[in-house]
Amino acid sequence: MLQYDYLIVGSGLFGSVFAHEALCHGKKCLVIEKRNHTGGNVHCTQVEGITVHQYGAHIFHTNNEKVWNYVNQFVCFNRFTNSPIANYKGEIYNLPFNMNTFSKMWGVRTPKEAERKIKEQCAQIKGVPRNLEQQAISLVGQDVYEKLIKGYTEKQWGRSCKDLPAFIIKRLPVRFTYDNNYFNDLYQGIPIGGYNKLIDQLLQGTEVQLETDFNECRKELLPLAKKAIYTGMIDAYFDNQFGKLEYRSLKFENEILNEPNFQGVAACNYTDRDTPFTRIIEHKHFEFGTQPKTVITREYPVEWNDKMEPYYPINDIKNQKLYQMYAHLAKNEKNVLFGGRLAEYQYYNMDQVIASALEIAKRELN
Ligand code: FAD
Ligand code: UDP
Repeated sequence: MLQYDYLIVGSGLFGSVFAHEALCHGKKCLVIEKRNHTGGNVHCTQVEGITVHQYGAHIFHTNNEKVWNYVNQFVCFNRFTNSPIANYKGEIYNLPFNMNTFSKMWGVRTPKEAERKIKEQCAQIKGVPRNLEQQAISLVGQDVYEKLIKGYTEKQWGRSCKDLPAFIIKRLPVRFTYDNNYFNDLYQGIPIGGYNKLIDQLLQGTEVQLETDFNECRKELLPLAKKAIYTGMIDAYFDNQFGKLEYRSLKFENEILNEPNFQGVAACNYTDRDTPFTRIIEHKHFEFGTQPKTVITREYPVEWNDKMEPYYPINDIKNQKLYQMYAHLAKNEKNVLFGGRLAEYQYYNMDQVIASALEIAKRELN
């Protein structure tokens, strides 16, 4: 019966990095994947000669030199720098929140003027911000909050900003310089040849079985390997015995346009409450494409149900408590390791997932 050292559930970045590391240590793995392709949410397709990020825009960025060197063994990165814009009822602002944003919002010219304006507008927030609304207002003031954060965030998460954790907004830099780089990280770019190339290289030499759902055939699968690495939803692994964790999902609406340049930028956020989508991605700009046509994707946030992909864990207090109950079971589960965005119920970026997989692989394989 025993044919493999590891059964890896999920071929996303976590599963693929672990598979590569295990192979390098002479281990035999079977990767199973319920979708009809590998790569999880970083998977891309080719449309009109343009690389389309099928599950939403993915920009690689990291401060972790080890992770950067690791991925650069497999792919080179282009010089793409994410500088999205926000469209609030036709008014265009630069993101993240920086001097260009403040200057357009208030007509201020210097950092001192911008800081003064924000101070005036956040005077009502006393003490440590307790939710996303208080955190946002104390960082950028009422006007930026109302025009660029409130509508976008409430669409994205389907909840009031008063009921969301402050950390979500702290992901974005606030700068008093004229700098539109969305990230502070030292390294950033898009893999030349796409994310599929990265995943293919990581999985080279490992057996992969697509369209296989662990939760439907775990009885047959588990005896095949000495140990399992599980990167699916943690609550599903435990038959949702304490109840289901909540997620936000997305609906992607793709369109091919017969024009070379629709919006002049890879990502344009629609930050008002009434526009039903949160952003439009124009994929060719990730690779400085010059094709005659263009592919755009409108992103509609929706509440998750069983038939959808669970994209974003909702790390509010209620779900965190529930996750802790499952994490406790996971700790005591023999011969199964849990990792990645879904199994750890964490709002991880790609570099964090890679770092986490490398860490687990190091502990497990050495
Ligand atoms: P996944 O990619 O979700 O992989 C898990 C895999 O397991 C999937 O392929 C799934 O089908 C499979 N699976 C699940 N359950 C089972 C089962 N029961 N049986 C078999 N297979 C199963 N990060 C960045 O760094 N930069 C970005 O710009 C960025 N943009 C993002 C945009 C969106 C819209 C989203 C949703 C995420 C974004 N991320 C970004 C985060 C990034 O996608 C993740 O950090 C990373 O892809 C997670 O890898 P993973 O392996 O943990 O999970
Ligand atoms: N956000 C916002 N306005 C924007 C962009 C982001 O209010 O124009 C908020 C929103 O709450 C979002 C959070 O900042 O969930 C983090 O943004 P990020 O771009 O990191 O989200 P992701 O790429 O994970 O969807």
